[in-house]
Amino acid sequence: MFELPATGGCRCGRFRFSFDSKPFVAYTCHCRECRKLTGSAFLTCMHIPAESLTLLKGDPACDLRQTDSGNSLITYFCDRCGGNMYAKNSARPFVVTLHVGSLDKPEKVEVNAHIWLKQKLSWVEIPDGHRRFDESGDWLEDYKDDPSKYGE
Ligand SMILES: [Zn+2]
Ligand SMILES: [Zn+2]
Repeated sequence: MFELPATGGCRCGRFRFSFDSKPFVAYTCHCRECRKLTGSAFLTCMHIPAESLTLLKGDPACDLRQTDSGNSLITYFCDRCGGNMYAKNSARPFVVTLHVGSLDKPEKVEVNAHIWLKQKLSWVEIPDGHRRFDESGDWLEDYKDDPSKYGE
């Protein structure tokens, strides 16, 4: 696991953040919306307590959408380089979903779960032993240290 506090930001450096809590869970989402958001095949992200995120530089732009699960999702991104950094979901008001690729040291994050597999591109292969969900993930077990943050 990475050293805390850990840092990240967008590609161009206009926005920087730090956080001082280890993630509850880290996973890859294969849904169509995450492909549109990233311009790539999937999005890898992790849940941290909302109060552990500090904006060090800049005030990101945001994009609001409704999810297939019926919640509101706000994604925060850089309006200069387009890099997306984190999101907040109305289903979990106590949590921020950090996009792992925006971290300075993403290689330190252990990812072992996959969601929205029913929309996965056919050539993306899931490693043996990783948890799999056809739609949204069930993370209750991952929040066992602080179930009040789970929000559902
Ligand atoms: Zn930027
Ligand atoms: Zn997704």
